[in-house]
Amino acid sequence: MPRTWILSIAAVISTTMLAQAPPPAPDWPRLEAETLQHFQALLRFDTSNPPGNEKLAADYLRQLLDREGIPTQMFALEPARANLVARLKGNGRRQPILLMGHTDVVTVDPGKWTFPPFSATRDGGYVYGRGSLDDRPHLVAGLMTLLLLKRLNVPLDRDVIFLAEAGEEGTTRVGIDFMARDHYQDISAEYCLAEGGETPRVGGKVKYAGIETVEKIPLPLELTAHGTSGHGSIPLMDNPIVHLSRAVAALAAWRTPIRLNDTTREYFKRLADISSGDAAARYRAVLVPGGAAAQAADDYFLRQEPRQASMLRTSVTPTILNGGYRFNVIPSEAKATIDVRMVPEENPGAFIEAAKKVINDPAVDVTISKSIDQRTAGGTTRIDSEAFKAIEAAVTKHYQAISLPVMQTGATDMSVLRAKGIQCYGVNAAVDSEDGPKGFGPHSDQERVLESELYRFVRLEWDIVTALAGVK
Ligand SMILES: [Zn+2]
Repeated sequence: MPRTWILSIAAVISTTMLAQAPPPAPDWPRLEAETLQHFQALLRFDTSNPPGNEKLAADYLRQLLDREGIPTQMFALEPARANLVARLKGNGRRQPILLMGHTDVVTVDPGKWTFPPFSATRDGGYVYGRGSLDDRPHLVAGLMTLLLLKRLNVPLDRDVIFLAEAGEEGTTRVGIDFMARDHYQDISAEYCLAEGGETPRVGGKVKYAGIETVEKIPLPLELTAHGTSGHGSIPLMDNPIVHLSRAVAALAAWRTPIRLNDTTREYFKRLADISSGDAAARYRAVLVPGGAAAQAADDYFLRQEPRQASMLRTSVTPTILNGGYRFNVIPSEAKATIDVRMVPEENPGAFIEAAKKVINDPAVDVTISKSIDQRTAGGTTRIDSEAFKAIEAAVTKHYQAISLPVMQTGATDMSVLRAKGIQCYGVNAAVDSEDGPKGFGPHSDQERVLESELYRFVRLEWDIVTALAGVK
């Protein structure tokens, strides 16, 4: 056989083998009615936490999945607080991918709502309801992705797992903590997609997609000032109210050093790339901490863009003061709670020592608060993975926008999974950037989602999952 033939046959074979069969295209316009139907049904379950009652939503999802032959399991530490797991099997060539959404919502003050909070009313292009942003879109995206993978019989290189978890809003013991401790084999995966990102729209156009790849680690500190009790008519130098006030003021004024990591370095770099003028200069300046330009940019962020300032460092925020009980009594003790959010590179012991030096007062003890429930602190998710690349490609396709890796200043359930070694990415539906300040954001007096962005989010998730799990 001539050598050129061999080469061309080899080329044909290799392209055939390497070419990824494009996943069948779902009929998206037709699927919007079904997506909306499930979304509204979920919004109409009152799963306010407390008390939760997440079983209402879990049962609904389960009967839909069961009906289409997708195996499900329920896990409940308490009967009303069920977690649902569904799994589509792949050929096992690669580790599973986990799609996660939480079924509980925060409580409501019904009097503040234009449309009743569990009515799922459609109005002016929005769907209103508690959970319409946090976190029903992830439930519907996970559900629709599984249903479509099954209906279209998409061959998979890895299992696709869907977890509808309970208790995310402050009671992780019945949700992610329980699942990670007692049923980890049922949700163990290489990658996880969940809430935690932010995709702001400005003037109707997506500015960027913030993809959460790492979270700060909460360190709740308790300050306790001790002194001599006495009569309020006779001032005492060791009054614990005074010592505590000075300590709180000193911590609040403390500018902890800028500490960047892979995520925040890339975040500020890309943010500079899509910004112009002074804004771009500021984002670039903090990439080189220590100089006057970085200092000036940091000053600006502290006043004008406090979230950026927090992303640069371990942050320190006094949140609770407790001292005294009567007008004319000097108490012997006063306490304050400080919400510290550490960058993952921080050493908690060393940080507490540094905080004590800042307070510089032997009458004030600094300890880690034992009364505050914490999620297990997780590791970092890679931004050079195939998953991050798949997310970036889908974001470019659907939003014509750049992806920014983001360090979440708060905490989500992904931290528990990251601690187990799962690479977790937080991706959210797009939201008009002025909608939160107007009072329609997650946990706000009212909550709403743009219906068109809900559908686009489902398509985005589909593309990410098929790129990562489809047979290669
Ligand atoms: Zn949430």
